[in-house]
This record gives sequence, structure tokens and C-alpha cells, in this order.
Amino acid sequence: MRMKKYDVIVVGAGVSGLLAALTLSKHGKKVLVLEKSLYLGGNCNSYMVDGYQVDTGAHAITHLLEGPLKRLMDNYFDFLPVFEDYGYYYVRTENAFMKVPSNLRDFVTFDVLPRKDRVLLSQALTKAFTLCSFGIDLSNQSVYDFMPKNLSQDTYDFVDTISKFLSGRSMRETSAQRVLWGSSFLRDSITQEQFDAMIGRSDPKKLQSAESILASVLPYHLHASLQARVTRVAQPFTSLERLATNEVNNSQGYPRKGLKALLNAILYSLPETVEIKKECEVTSILVQDGKVSGVEADEIYSSDLIIYTGFATELPKLIKDLPNDYAGDLNGIVHSKSLTIWLGLEEEFPEFNYTGSEIWFKDFAYWAMPISNYDPSLAPKDKQLVGFSFVIDENRSEEHELKQAYETIFHAHPKIENHIEMQHEQFIVPEKAAVTIDGKFADIRTPIRNLYIAGTDTDKRSMGITRASYSIIELLKILNEDGNLH
Ligand SMILES: Cc1cc2nc3c(=O)[nH]c(=O)nc-3n(C[C@H](O)[C@H](O)[C@H](O)COP(=O)(O)OP(=O)(O)OC[C@H]3O[C@@H](n4cnc5c(N)ncnc54)[C@H](O)[C@@H]3O)c2cc1C
Repeated sequence: MRMKKYDVIVVGAGVSGLLAALTLSKHGKKVLVLEKSLYLGGNCNSYMVDGYQVDTGAHAITHLLEGPLKRLMDNYFDFLPVFEDYGYYYVRTENAFMKVPSNLRDFVTFDVLPRKDRVLLSQALTKAFTLCSFGIDLSNQSVYDFMPKNLSQDTYDFVDTISKFLSGRSMRETSAQRVLWGSSFLRDSITQEQFDAMIGRSDPKKLQSAESILASVLPYHLHASLQARVTRVAQPFTSLERLATNEVNNSQGYPRKGLKALLNAILYSLPETVEIKKECEVTSILVQDGKVSGVEADEIYSSDLIIYTGFATELPKLIKDLPNDYAGDLNGIVHSKSLTIWLGLEEEFPEFNYTGSEIWFKDFAYWAMPISNYDPSLAPKDKQLVGFSFVIDENRSEEHELKQAYETIFHAHPKIENHIEMQHEQFIVPEKAAVTIDGKFADIRTPIRNLYIAGTDTDKRSMGITRASYSIIELLKILNEDGNLH
């Protein structure tokens, strides 16, 4: 029997793998996607539990106005999800419930923290911003190092919580740069013209300089000096202005019908030339003369081009003879683990009467989203569905973390305990690389010719699905440069 040959094999059918399959198939490639699990979508999915539709973790999709996912949707999707306006981020304490400040003006009235601390923090934030705007790279300075000393414990807990949700790690391990970028104060998007130039679709002479394209699409740590030069010219006033008046929520959304609506939009947009095999784990990536030749799964599949979207740290198990120093670098990639508790409430609770999410920063910090407020069909009639996500300590047992998580929820919301009719827990690694000071990322190009990696461990910018989308845009650019796209 003749072995079937594909133009591209994509390993993994999470959002990164499916976006790779979609884009490459629309550039005329015959694509095979191999997924080890029974389900497609990886961390981007929804499913039913006792009449409630839960997502794989509480999700907000960011940078929808002009971000990388928007670019991919505009250029490659035939079907689009509908995004509901995200709403706001709130902070809840025993005594207060108020919006998380997204600019200095809001920060002044944020009396969850002591006034003295707010003044000192505003100064530190302005300083970080000014340095950043003038091209100083803060990626090696921790948030903690940047903070004034002698602040109250509440303030440290608050900043620690924000750091954990932005990077997956504590304020001592999170870079100041990360918090500035992650909080959307800095520009984090690309334009259509830049996008066309990257995938080689338009006349480069008509476009902006290569520098401005590179500055917005390359991971900024790879070209700090370039970024610095461009930033110095183009950004100081805009960035500082945004710090003063920024509205953080204005380009975020939640997909109507749940997270799986985004997955379905990708799946429905796939041309018939894309073949997908589920429950088909790739156990080996085959290499001949330094170049990929195929993969081994339930059988051998052959291709000269492979996009791998599993954990980059797993690559050494899949490829014999990977150079030692490369495998060693991959080892430096760290990630964090999350726990999400979904609660189905038998009635709608006034304290969850908002769209957006709330943060609790005392005890065991959580990030909670009452997602049935976006779409009542996610819960049975007149009932409510709320997801609480925690960053957990991997050195402790899951039982311990679960117990502490429930205690925190009941401390924050004493009234809901007797009104829970559905509870469901998920332990998931949310992103393949946490953005820490020392944490490494993988390059999209590997030492094996025509083997590329895509996913959240190849790009530092933004978070989750937005970060995965950045990695796909970067992948397309690199494939184009290598002559492998058209
Ligand atoms: C609690 C939580 C909250 C989150 N919040 C947000 C948020 O607010 N906003 C946001 O944008 N993102 C958020 N995310 C992150 C987002 O869901 C992920 O970053 C994104 O879905 C990752 O997609 P991916 O395709 O890169 O990886 P994955 O989803 O991990 O997909 C990889 C796929 O590859 C498959 N695979 C791996 N190895 C193999 C192999 N050898 N053979 C075959 N198949 C293989 C896996 O089974 C999996 O299906 C959150 C995640 C969690 C858990």
C-alpha cells in the first residue's frame, strides 16, 4: 500500500494547531492534523455538566479590536464567533466590591488599598512606564523589585495576585515589563498592512519600514534594541497618555455560546482538504538527513513540513538525536497549573449581577466569571453559572488546593454554599510557558529543518489564545521567509 503524503502535518488540535491547519490550508496546503485526545480544541472548549455548559477554564479573549486573533479571523475565517462585550474587572473584599483600576485616574479612588500605598504605587507605575516608553527593557526586573518598600500586606497581596494572573507566577518571579504589557497599557497589536507584509501578500515597497513591522510582531525580548528605537520614536506620549486614561476592557470579549463557539468557528472554516484524526498520539517525529520526513502515530504519516503544537518541553521525547544544548534550553521553560471550580447556582445571585470578572486577592487568590450573564443558555432557566480560577501550588496535593479553594470561595461568598446544585473541577496547565524573569521560551524554528513549533511557549506577548494567535502569525511569517508558505 502506498503511504499517503501530506504537505503539512500538524501535531495537536488545540487552538494553535487548528489555527495553523486553517491558515496553511488556506495557503493551498494539504494538511493532516493529529490529536491524541478524543476531543478537539485542547484548552479551548466547552462541555455539558448536569445541564450547565462549562468552559475549560474561565476565559476572556483579549485584543479583539486589532489584535492577532482579529487579524486571523479577518483573513482566514469563513465563520466568525460573536463576542459579547467583556464588561469590567472588579475586586472583591469582605467590605468592598469595585472596579480594578486600569489607569492612574481610577487608581486615585481605589480605596481597597491604603491611600499612602496608592500614591507610592502610582509613582512606581509612572516610573516603570516612562522607562519602558523610552526603550528601557524591564524584562529582567521583577515586579517586587520595582515596588516601593514598606507597603501594607494588602497591597503586596493585591500586586502578587495581579502578577499571578498575568504571568502564572508570583510578583517576585514576574517581570515589571510583563505587568505593563499584560495590563494592555502598551500597544500590543498589529495592523492589516503589517500582516500582509509578513505573509508576503503585498508589495513591500508600499509598506511601512521593516522595523515597524518587526517591532509589532516579533517577541520583544528578541529584538530589544530594535524595539527600543522604534518605541522611542513612536510611543512615549501615547503610552503615558494611556496610563492616565486607558480603558482596559474595551477590546475584550466573551464568545456567545461559550468558548467552544471560537473552536467551532475555526472548525467550520477549515477547508475539506484538512484531515483530522483524533485519539492519534504522535509518538515520534521522523528525521532524515537533518530534515523532517514524517511522524509515527497509529501508523507512519509522511510529510516534509511539520508543525508541532504540544509542549515544546516534550520534543526531546519525540525526536532522537536532538542537539543537547537545544534540549537543555527547552528544559528552562516553566509553566504553572490552574484549578477552575465551576458552580451551578439554583438561583441568580445579586452579588454576581455584572458582566466581567472579579478578583479576590486575600487567602487563596481567585479570578471568577459569572459566564451565564453573557449568555443565559449556559445555565438552566433562572439559574447561574460561575467559574472560579486559581493558580495552584504544584508542590502541594490537588486535594489540599481544592479544599483551600472551596474555603476561599465560601469565605468570599458565604451565601452561595447552600445554593449549589452543580460543582465541577478542572486541573489544567493554562499556558505552555509562564512569563517569568528567568523562564525560557522556544523558538518557532527548531534545529531540525522544516520542523516548527507553534503555541503559547513560543511567544511572550499577551496571554492564552491571543498569545497562541501571535505564535501563528509569527509562524506564517517564518514559513514565508523560509519559502515554505506558498
Ligand atoms: C483556567 C484557564 C484560564 C484561561 N484564561 C484565558 C483567558 O482568559 N484568555 C485567553 O486567551 N486564554 C486563556 N487561557 C489559555 C488558553 O486556553 C490556552 O492558552 C490555549 O487554549 C492554548 O492553546 P494551544 O493550542 O496552544 O495548546 P493546547 O490547548 O494545550 O493544545 C495542544 C493540543 O495538542 C495535543 N497534543 C499534545 N501532544 C500531542 C501529541 N504528541 N500527539 C497528538 N496530540 C498532541 C493536546 O492533546 C492538545 O489538544 C486559560 C486557560 C485556563 C486553563
